Amino acid sequence: MLIIMRRQATDEEIKAVVNAIQAMGYSAHSIPGSTRTAIGVTGNNGPVDQNLIESLPGVVQTMRVTKPYKLVSRETKPDDTIVEVDGIQIGGRELVVIAGPCSAESRNQIVEAAEAVKAAGASVLRGGAFKPRTSPYSFQGSAEQALKWLAEAREVTGLPVVTEVIDVESAILTEKYADILQIGARNMQNFVLLTHVAKSRKPVLLKRGPAATLEELLNAAEYLLSGGNYQVILCERGIRTFSDFSRNTLDLGLVPAAKELSHLPVITDPSHGTGRRGMVLPLARASVAAGADGVMVEVHPDPERALSDGFQSLYPQQFTQLMNDLRQMAPVVGRTLSR
Ligand code: PEP
Ligand code: MN
Repeated sequence: MLIIMRRQATDEEIKAVVNAIQAMGYSAHSIPGSTRTAIGVTGNNGPVDQNLIESLPGVVQTMRVTKPYKLVSRETKPDDTIVEVDGIQIGGRELVVIAGPCSAESRNQIVEAAEAVKAAGASVLRGGAFKPRTSPYSFQGSAEQALKWLAEAREVTGLPVVTEVIDVESAILTEKYADILQIGARNMQNFVLLTHVAKSRKPVLLKRGPAATLEELLNAAEYLLSGGNYQVILCERGIRTFSDFSRNTLDLGLVPAAKELSHLPVITDPSHGTGRRGMVLPLARASVAAGADGVMVEVHPDPERALSDGFQSLYPQQFTQLMNDLRQMAPVVGRTLSR
């Protein structure tokens, strides 16, 4: 249920409604907006006593949210959510470009990559420390050592860091080093992990599972919001189809669809979405044209020697080209991309 408060409702009135909800044994989520303040109610299995709520001072009306995902839906929050990390806004007018290697492989590799993507204009550094790999024989990541290298790359460049967490243990460790916690495609429906990360104060980059529907993605995000973490970014990273030239099929239609149903920022990952270096730039451009709030791409100083995903990693100069292209496109779609 959604409770709409008077535009000028006081903090005391809002607090009183929150207390009343909690006294019923439910959770209350305050949702400030440009035209109204609302309070989302979750945790109720049946209808909430509407009359009682509507009799409280400051309440205008109560509404049922029809979608299964409540807090994630635009019904609940018409205004776009802007996720803030280190002064960077994700989901605002400025496009966000997250770049870096698939894996943080060594101190020098990640610092070199960070300097290159920073010079080209990236605003967030990526790099995996815990790698969920298809084969048990593939490089599994350098774990905490890699988190330390990433933290050093942030020191050197000032770029905030996003890196993947694969279970509760890695999430506890990663929270100490990273600025954004990534939940990878394979873990989109790892509900234990989602529930844990929901309690974190760090923003979450949630990637769509390779066979997940939009509704499943939004329900996964609902685990995060209902658990108290409202700083969530959705990421389309390609799905499994019969098309086999590319590793996955980047489902660009998901971008406007997710934006219609949800207020959360949406970015794409054309690197994992295609698996082919040559397709990353065109699909990054297409993502921005489709309304994405940004892209995440893999860039490696020496892709031939990468320990993972070298085939899809851009050379630094290709990344510079990508940034130049997006910078030219940005005004056409009403966005900006600063240097
Ligand atoms: C990644 O971003 O490093 C990654 C493993 O991506 P995905 O979870 O989308 O496969
Ligand atoms: Mn990768």
